[in-house]
Amino acid sequence: MENRLIECVGIGTDIHRLQSGGPLRLGGVEIPFDQGLLGHSDGDVVLHAVTDAILGAVGLPDIGERFPDSDARYRGADSGALLSEVVADVGSRGWAVVNVDVVVHAERPKLSAHKGAIRGRVAALLGLPADRVSIKAKTNEGLDAVGRGEAIGCTCVVGLCRSPDRK
Ligand code: MG
Repeated sequence: MENRLIECVGIGTDIHRLQSGGPLRLGGVEIPFDQGLLGHSDGDVVLHAVTDAILGAVGLPDIGERFPDSDARYRGADSGALLSEVVADVGSRGWAVVNVDVVVHAERPKLSAHKGAIRGRVAALLGLPADRVSIKAKTNEGLDAVGRGEAIGCTCVVGLCRSPDRK
């Protein structure tokens, strides 16, 4: 991928409560765990944070406005499909994602064995080579809801450029 000048950045955060019973979906990847994330959609905090960061970068309404949890169409929704819709939308407006840097906040499960798969899936959803996607995982040192194992959160930043075909 040739280097492109980043013209705007966006930040996204999300947190979902853990409940007993899987599957746990993070970054579009199913991770073996005895708990999953509660949510109107599939509860994928990573894809929600990435989606919100992209929307924010280009000044579009946030993920909650775009895909309201009061709308039955999004019950159990595949967050990958929602992200793909947003990537296509910003693409039609002349924007392309350049890179994304993701931090997952989770006390459990250990994510080191899954970061590669998450990276590959997020890169595929964004149409990026894997080296433009970073997935980092941090515990919360036992503090707060994440540290008590009650929730998993995500923080991410994205960079976008003007699409080459729109220059
Ligand atoms: Mg969410």
